[in-house]
Amino acid sequence: MTRRLLLIGGGHTHVEVIRRWGLSPEPGVTMTLVSPDRHTPYSGMLPGFIAGHYRFEDCHIDLEALCRHAGVAHQECTVESIDITHRRVRCTNGTEQYFDVVSVDTGSTPVTANIPGADRYGTPVKPVAPFLDAWREMQKAARQTAGTLEFAIVGAGAGGIELALAMEHRLRADGGRARISIIGDGSAILPSHPEGVRRRLARILRQRNIVVRLNSPVQEARADRLLLRDGTEVPTDHVLWVTGAAAPEWPRTSGLATDAAGFIAVNEYLQSISHDDVFAAGDVAAMVATPRPKSGVYAVRQGPPLSANLRHALRDEPLVAYRPQNTTLALISTGNRYAIASYGPIAFGGAWVWRWKNRIDTAFMRRYGTAGTAAALQTPG
Ligand SMILES: Cc1cc2nc3c(=O)[nH]c(=O)nc-3n(C[C@H](O)[C@H](O)[C@H](O)COP(=O)(O)OP(=O)(O)OC[C@H]3O[C@@H](n4cnc5c(N)ncnc54)[C@H](O)[C@@H]3O)c2cc1C
Repeated sequence: MTRRLLLIGGGHTHVEVIRRWGLSPEPGVTMTLVSPDRHTPYSGMLPGFIAGHYRFEDCHIDLEALCRHAGVAHQECTVESIDITHRRVRCTNGTEQYFDVVSVDTGSTPVTANIPGADRYGTPVKPVAPFLDAWREMQKAARQTAGTLEFAIVGAGAGGIELALAMEHRLRADGGRARISIIGDGSAILPSHPEGVRRRLARILRQRNIVVRLNSPVQEARADRLLLRDGTEVPTDHVLWVTGAAAPEWPRTSGLATDAAGFIAVNEYLQSISHDDVFAAGDVAAMVATPRPKSGVYAVRQGPPLSANLRHALRDEPLVAYRPQNTTLALISTGNRYAIASYGPIAFGGAWVWRWKNRIDTAFMRRYGTAGTAAALQTPG
């Protein structure tokens, strides 16, 4: 009897599962991908897209083409629940998909739940598609304004810093008039990076006239300002939310075991700790025995072990444990084809670091075929 493997979300992990399926399909198994959009962004190149170095197609994987070449069915819809007893998922458009084994790689969104007004004012950086639409409008407004537009980026981690520097570069290149602030609730920018990285980026932010406000949790968002905990009011024309990762609600309300933040709790096989036929990877998963920060690097690294374990599960074979690395290399771009490298306690920067990052990122995109070519699918893993 034909078995059904269902992938929910075309994130960084699932694109590798699909690519490997194309190279070696599993006899007697159909694979279906459910995802809201035809294109999925590669986060490593998003700041470069904002800065104007890449085109849309350079940093988005065409899931439709990837699936077609890999022999995988693709349904464009957004999952809202899993019915584990009846082995089916339900999408927001009312359609249903059935499965024998299901895997979830739907990412995360910025945390804004506790900030009154955040859902009405400002733009979360994820989902990426509506953020990019909003960014086009912001660019237009910055070009057309007679005065200076006030941009506030809430979140002083790597994503917020890269985004601020990329936006500053692009708006200045376009002749737009903008003042950019970064607002963080901690006592330092990039708290998970070494002092050398923080120092270098703090200097670059000063040189580019980007104001950094630390120890400043946002208490409330209003139409034209942010209210900070210390009573300061920051005037805003545009607010971007790049705060830490929040989980979707539907895994928990569907009955899957989650961690305290609502991320799907998985074991060393990337398998749900509550349901053997459910797997999860990327930001939406919490590896309970080996917790790691939410990062695209881990999502990418989980592709090969998830692919292998989905096959093992379908064949009723023993699963193979995945051990995530302890340290990852982060290459943080500064908008002007320059980047800072951060690895454990080590920090260094240069235009060559950006070229290195560019080579790594474009090689990643080639694997999934920028234009969805069959040739790209043949690149050995
Ligand atoms: C500006 C910025 C820059 C970043 N730069 C880096 C970087 O340089 N390096 C790094 O390691 N990390 C970076 N990150 C973090 C990185 O974006 C995430 O860790 C990474 O995208 C997680 O990948 P994922 O596979 O979990 O999900 P994602 O890549 O977010 O993909 C999730 C997919 O699931 C789909 N989906 C969502 N909900 C549903 C649903 N209900 N039903 C069906 N499909 C759904 C989405 O449309 C999307 O295609 C950056 C983040 C930001 C905001």
